[in-house]
Amino acid sequence: MWQAEVRVDLDAIRDNVARLRAGTGAELMAVVKGDGYGHGMVPSARAALDAGADWLGVCTLDEALTLRRAGITVPVLAWLLDPGLPLHEGVAAGVDLAAASLPQLAEMIEAGRVANRPARLHLKIDTGLSRGGATVADWPNLLEAAANAQAEGLVEVVGVWSHFVYADSPGHPTTDRQLAVFHEGLAMVERAGLRPRYRHLANSAATLTRPDTHFDLVRPGIAVYGLSPIAGERFGLRPAMTARARVMITKRVPAGTGVSYGHTYTTEDETNLAVVPLGYADGVPRHGSNVGPVQLAGRRRTISGRVCMDQFVLDCGTDEVTAGDVATLFGSGADGEPTADDWADAVGTINYEIVTRFGGVRVPRVYDGERP
Ligand SMILES: *Cc1c(COP(=O)(O)O)cnc(C)c1O
Repeated sequence: MWQAEVRVDLDAIRDNVARLRAGTGAELMAVVKGDGYGHGMVPSARAALDAGADWLGVCTLDEALTLRRAGITVPVLAWLLDPGLPLHEGVAAGVDLAAASLPQLAEMIEAGRVANRPARLHLKIDTGLSRGGATVADWPNLLEAAANAQAEGLVEVVGVWSHFVYADSPGHPTTDRQLAVFHEGLAMVERAGLRPRYRHLANSAATLTRPDTHFDLVRPGIAVYGLSPIAGERFGLRPAMTARARVMITKRVPAGTGVSYGHTYTTEDETNLAVVPLGYADGVPRHGSNVGPVQLAGRRRTISGRVCMDQFVLDCGTDEVTAGDVATLFGSGADGEPTADDWADAVGTINYEIVTRFGGVRVPRVYDGERP
């Protein structure tokens, strides 16, 4: 029995990865950061590997080590590494590290010394996002230092990479500009005498629409989970996550009844209310108050009044609803239920944020399509 659950269809993840795989001649890194975008990092990673992913991508060292502790041995890249981390644990575990500055390089050289094997590095150039990544001005120095360290056997430069600005509109001129800067950066890599095996740049959007950015490795994230990075296009992907809950209690109330905190909703007629035990502690955006779509008893409804920490209310009008009926916030859309995209539209965010919010601890995550 469950009162609320997040279901994750691992077969959908497998299908999505297979589809992405078929669309590129490059190797494929399934990005499983952020607890697999809320889908559960390790089960999502295993499903992606079942379907032919070659690499896994994460942000933190901790995420990478968790994958290793789960017995996953494929190449893993970790790219968000603040100073003072026990990087030697990553090196010892065979985790590839992203380096974008001389201090980071120095730490990775030291980590290799401690681990007694050279750190495997992916040098990152900032092609326009202005986030992590060496600026074009700093790039030659980083390359020279990395080339020297490699010559001394202190590091192994495995990759060179960057990240796009326009995840949602890959036809944007900034994308072309970034690609040109990346090519310049690669020319400098060659001049520095480095021949990294992997050049990589493409996120989901570029993996799906810009083969000229695939190079040796693509790094899709959101598409792995079946969501499109580009509004209005599906690319044949299958959303893997469904969030739903069973109605806790129903009641009949008169017209003019204020509903939930602040009474931001008032019933117009005598009506049936259904109380659903999911709230912002579980991932439901509070901005879904009076706008969030929910499927219940065969109809699309809108949350009535404020989303609370643990529950919300649906005005079901004259429809007969019963405690125990299933209210679906979002799913694949195959049965008429809203999708994460519908929720994103309703609350003014992106589908990435909707699914990632539902990775909390209170709502059990249930997996379909698990393999032994
Ligand atoms: C999150 C992330 C990705 C995946 O992006 P999507 O838009 O989800 O495909 C790829 N590369 C880096 C560096 C990332 O941080």
